[in-house]
Amino acid sequence: MKLLIKTIACAFLKTRCLCCSKVMKAKDSQTIYAKFGLCQNCYKKMPFIYQHFNLIGIPGLAIYEYSGLIKDSLLALKVNGDREIAKIFFGPIAGFLRLKYTGYTILPVPSISSQDRLRTFNHVYEIAKILRLPIEKAFVKTQSWKQSGKSQTKRTYIRKVLKINKELDPTKKYLIVDDIMTTGETLKACINLIKPPHRRTLKILVVAIHKNRKKSRKTLADFN
Ligand SMILES: [Zn+2]
Repeated sequence: MKLLIKTIACAFLKTRCLCCSKVMKAKDSQTIYAKFGLCQNCYKKMPFIYQHFNLIGIPGLAIYEYSGLIKDSLLALKVNGDREIAKIFFGPIAGFLRLKYTGYTILPVPSISSQDRLRTFNHVYEIAKILRLPIEKAFVKTQSWKQSGKSQTKRTYIRKVLKINKELDPTKKYLIVDDIMTTGETLKACINLIKPPHRRTLKILVVAIHKNRKKSRKTLADFN
């Protein structure tokens, strides 16, 4: 009965896909992708990669390649301030990630605070909250500094503008979450702000990683 009501509601309310704006088909209303605002077509186009990596000794995981639909959707979130679209990134794999990181507290990588004020929210926080794990905003950027478009040498400057504003709880396990990993300089700067005892259990989770990396043969559907 509940399913029937939802299907009818979907048909009448004309739920639209958050990515392509097309009206969702009623038959899709109970799918994992529709739950997170995606039509079947966009769900299939997500550049799923499930890439493990290691950054200065800390294990990391990237869910997508930074291309196509994921690239466009991150821009919609960050530049256009389309807050609702934040749920599409980890949403389709949230159940799996919640289990994988049970007992972890998320440390979102910060944006420049003036950018957050402009769009009235921190986009990494918005992406991460769908995992329903505790979140602590421990990292802050102390001055305006845009990472994109900077040379490798200038990128190391990020270490000077990133700070940690609280003592981490020694009894907790922490998961650093970011949107895009390019050279990993921002993430390395975050890791270096964390004292060695915490690093033993520290992990990294990123939405997307830049191209030219080995792809997983798994698909998103394997995790649902
Ligand atoms: Zn769509």
